[in-house]
Amino acid sequence: MKDIKELTFEELKTELAAMDEKPFRAGQIFSWLHKRFVTDFDQMTDLSIGLRKKLSENYSLTVHELEEVQVSKADGTRKYLFKLCDGEFVEAVRMIYHHGVSLCISSQVGCRQGCRFCASTLGGLVRNLTAAEMLEQVYSVIRESGERVDSIVMMGIGEPMDNYDEAVRFVRLITDERGYDLSGRNITISSCGLVPGIRKLAEEGLKVTLALSLHAVSDEKRKKIMPVAERFTIEELMDAVDLYFEKTGRRVSFEYALIAGVNDTDEDIAGLVRLAGSRGCHVNLIPVNPVTERGMKEPDRTVVLNFKNKLEKKGINATIRREMGRDIDGACGQLRRKHRELP
Ligand code: SAH
Repeated sequence: MKDIKELTFEELKTELAAMDEKPFRAGQIFSWLHKRFVTDFDQMTDLSIGLRKKLSENYSLTVHELEEVQVSKADGTRKYLFKLCDGEFVEAVRMIYHHGVSLCISSQVGCRQGCRFCASTLGGLVRNLTAAEMLEQVYSVIRESGERVDSIVMMGIGEPMDNYDEAVRFVRLITDERGYDLSGRNITISSCGLVPGIRKLAEEGLKVTLALSLHAVSDEKRKKIMPVAERFTIEELMDAVDLYFEKTGRRVSFEYALIAGVNDTDEDIAGLVRLAGSRGCHVNLIPVNPVTERGMKEPDRTVVLNFKNKLEKKGINATIRREMGRDIDGACGQLRRKHRELP
């Protein structure tokens, strides 16, 4: 059965009409789902018992089981491990910033992109998440914490562009003003650089921010750490980034995981200045999170700070990603691995 949260407002209206129900019911149901985050059709108390029964016979309303919540003593960051209805696990991380609550969600169970430094890809791709399963990460965190989520980053497990249709459906659903009504500006989709997906996203009419996981400034070096670089060159990527800006007016930001002895030299800085400078792209530096299986280390703190300062001197807007919840963290995707004991 399809999860009812999967349906857009228009689809819900059409399906209700097919059941001989009045169109205004769509507004009521949509609001129960996306504003009040109900977990059962019986909580939709302004619907007749008959309609509630009909809905429960035709749709599911999946709720993720909360397998584990880790709370950081340092900064209140919470890491959630959810058990999905088929027993698979995904993670979401809730961080508190001065401008509000930010949630990092997963888009797939596992990942097939094979980035060398990433824990989420070690066991390959298991399956895509549905838009409803992405929404449910947000909604169950709200139920658990009692607070609204103000921004969402799709930087958890998975490659959103590899699950394009569901990722876009998720964005359309959560930005619908009749439901959760999150501004597209408060959503970031992060991609390892699947060019056709980026080009397509540029045309969707969504105001979301795109983060590009660049991590290296030459194709040669990028190929060593990201298999996706065998498929798309940096030049092709930059064309897609330019198209994204042209079509959406949103500047793309570059993610750059700093790995000791791999991409932390002056030559790398010069390359980043070349790519980010003329485009006005923000560079987000992430000292690589060590993954035991990967043997990659973050550079010394002074190297990281110098890297940032040198970028700034060249006029690049650069930040070092705050290492939130380090005390509860493994690297990205490690909580799931711990539970699955994946190869
Ligand atoms: N697949 C998407 C989104 C998920 S990863 C993407 O590639 O962008 C989110 C970000 O964390 C990406 O920039 C990714 O490259 C980075 N990342 C993955 N593993 C990491 C690690 N061990 N240390 C630092 N950053 C990492």
